[in-house]
Formats: sequence, C-alpha cells, structure tokens
Amino acid sequence: MIDIIGRVIEFETRVYPERGDLYARLAEHGQSPKALIVSCSDSRVVPEHVVQAEPGELFTCRNAGNIVPPFMEVNGGVSATVEYAVAVLGVSDVIVCGHSDCGAMKAVANPAGLDALPSVAAWLGHAATARRVVGEAYPELDGGDRVRAISLENVVAQLAHLRTHPSVAARIATGSLTLHGWFVDIHAGQVLGLDGESGRFVPLREGTLPVAQKAERRLAAAQPLAVAAE
Ligand code: ZN
Repeated sequence: MIDIIGRVIEFETRVYPERGDLYARLAEHGQSPKALIVSCSDSRVVPEHVVQAEPGELFTCRNAGNIVPPFMEVNGGVSATVEYAVAVLGVSDVIVCGHSDCGAMKAVANPAGLDALPSVAAWLGHAATARRVVGEAYPELDGGDRVRAISLENVVAQLAHLRTHPSVAARIATGSLTLHGWFVDIHAGQVLGLDGESGRFVPLREGTLPVAQKAERRLAAAQPLAVAAE
C-alpha cells in the first residue's frame, strides 16, 4: 500500500479522536459552510490549506482549470454543486480560484497536444474565452506570461459563467452573495484577488480584501424613482 493510503489509519486513530468534539458537532447538527470554492484539481493548490479551513467550513468543488460551465450547457457536477451550495446551504461567498503553473491553462494556451484527450479538450472549451481575450487584448504576451494572463482571465471568465446560473443570479440580485476571484501563486506563496472596482488582481492583505463583486441589492426591476415620487 502506498504511503498516502496508509495514512488513513492515522486519521482514524489520532486525528479524528483529537477533533472528536468538532466532528461530533458536525455529525449531529450537519454542515453550514460559509463559502463555496471552485478551484483547480492540481495537487499543489489545496483550498482548505490555503484558507486554513476546518472541517465543515468550506464547500469545495475542484476540477481541471477551475471551470464553471455556463448554466444549461453542462448539467454536470459543477453546476449541481454550485446550485446546492448557493440555494440550499446558503453560502455567503463564492470563490473561483486559479493558480500559477496550471497544466489546464497551459493546454488552453496551446491546445495542439490534446488530440488524445478528447474529454479534457471538450472541458477546456469552457475556457476558450480566456484564450481569445488574451490573444486580442494582450497580443504582445508569449510563453509563461501568456499562460499566466490566460489563467487570470480564466478566473474572470468563470465568474461570468457563474453569474448565468439562476441560483447565483437570484442571490446576487438580493444582495446576499459576494463573488471572489483568486489566483494562488504557488511559486511566491501569495494569493491575488480580483478587485471588481479596478478590474485588477491585487495581493490579499490583512484589512484590504478585494472582492470581484460585493453583495449589493440590485434594483433593476424596482419602481423607477421618478414614478415613485409622483
Ligand atoms: Zn490547474
């Protein structure tokens, strides 16, 4: 048995008993995580590790390229996870989290090698927007700089896809959901966050946590002010 499988014994005999109170509480009362994170499957970017989350705190969805397909395009696991987290668990925050040196984003940048990987190629089609955006808006970039730009723009694109889901759109309209776009730089040990106001990724620092879209009641269908005043 490989080492990592054998460590489950340590979970049963040491870790679980040490956190007995926490697990007992979660088992009895169920979960009420505050946030959903959609991050890459890359083994080096562990969402619970990055935010130092305890069991029960973070609802997690991981896939190649931290992708959220637009609503109704793929009725699969990501869409179901988003819907459940937002509509049933009532998370207050959703984080889309990309990272540096992402194999999926390298493939998006250079899809020629995907002939033998039809499932990967189809899945990464949901990131085509990022490649097009970088190609037209940052034509001077190449190599690693281009892949990094595609990774950042992919976070922006997946946040846009996220907003197409009715469960998400409704919570945004009621002003009860905050959206975050993160990029974990695994070389620098730093997390960048998308600042919705400037449109830029900036370092997450104590006291200044940029958000992609803050929770704010939308009033598009409210009575026009002039009419209401008459
Ligand atoms: Zn990745």
